Amino acid sequence: MKIPLVDLKAQYNSIKDEINNAISNIVESSRFIGGEELELFEKEFASYCKKKFVIGTSSGTAALHLTLLSLLKKGDEVTTVPNTFTATAAAIHHAGGKINFVDVNEYYLIDISKLEKTSSNLIIPVHLYGQPADMDEIKDFAEDKNIIIVEDAAQAHGAKYKGKKIPITETGIFSFFPAKPLGAYGDAGCVATDNEELAERVKQLRDHGRANRTKNKYEHSLIGFNYRLDAIQAAILRVKLKYLDKWNEMKNRNAKLYNKLLSEIDEVETPKVKPYNNHSYYVYVIRTEKRDELREFLLSNGISTGIHYPIPLHLQKAYRFLGYKEGDFPVAERYAKEILSLPIYPELTEDQIIYVCNKIKEFFRR
Ligand SMILES: *Cc1c(COP(=O)(O)O)cnc(C)c1O
Repeated sequence: MKIPLVDLKAQYNSIKDEINNAISNIVESSRFIGGEELELFEKEFASYCKKKFVIGTSSGTAALHLTLLSLLKKGDEVTTVPNTFTATAAAIHHAGGKINFVDVNEYYLIDISKLEKTSSNLIIPVHLYGQPADMDEIKDFAEDKNIIIVEDAAQAHGAKYKGKKIPITETGIFSFFPAKPLGAYGDAGCVATDNEELAERVKQLRDHGRANRTKNKYEHSLIGFNYRLDAIQAAILRVKLKYLDKWNEMKNRNAKLYNKLLSEIDEVETPKVKPYNNHSYYVYVIRTEKRDELREFLLSNGISTGIHYPIPLHLQKAYRFLGYKEGDFPVAERYAKEILSLPIYPELTEDQIIYVCNKIKEFFRR
């Protein structure tokens, strides 16, 4: 049996006619930049995550970059976690901020008790793997000190915290990278916010600083970027948004079966989920001290896995200038050596999950 980590082709096949139609409509209209599909997607996704404004961007990284550029003053400190994708920290740097890392807890999420020492201007909780961070505690901490919160929800489309969709606070960013819970057919992202001023600024910055593209195409009120969301991607995302809740449910069903079957294996730690959290399972992450050997064994049995992420950011060459060293974030460092992402995509069958779990059992019984 061959099982990939993700199977985007299987998902495409399940909605092929709708997707092909959406793409061909854009090509026929030849309205590739801006236009109705973009506006409709922004409206529909805003209504989906219960935010007043959604501004589509060319990637999640672009969304975070523009958000931070709009909210930070040069030299402001921004706190986030080291066990995230590099884009979270890179956006802080490119927006002129100073990166401050704090360690994570056993949920792979920002450890609130480690926040006490920070004096940052802004916090970026990352809803890693699709599980919301402890937003009430983060809000309490931030409100007292006038700290801005921007949620990195790049992996958490449709995830809920205490019954409420992410982002919980005023502003969050999403990535629509193809493999994310809601993925485009290329790069895409967005900012979702209730802050009108921020929304307007991001809207201008993403389009060369234009205040009004249709009326005054060559008038630029700001020095901006070309960070727009393509009409083709917006049209694809509109189709896929209708299925997001169903796909998240299917992944939750898969996770449940994994949890049950893997609970029999002492050497494997299954994901911990707070009872009030609804997970979007961008990835399903287990932990074992024999991670690398297990990964190789699974691969030799046709099962692809991933590691999200193998090197914590504070130990990456790119961030060496920050002056961190090994041992600074012991939890993130240990987990980086033990985590393994198993296939969890919606179309994965029960038989495939049983096969994966049997192979993991076989590995530990050898
Ligand atoms: C994917 C991702 C990003 C960046 O999104 P892109 O669309 O790839 O630019 C940022 N943060 C996290 C946590 C991500 O997983």
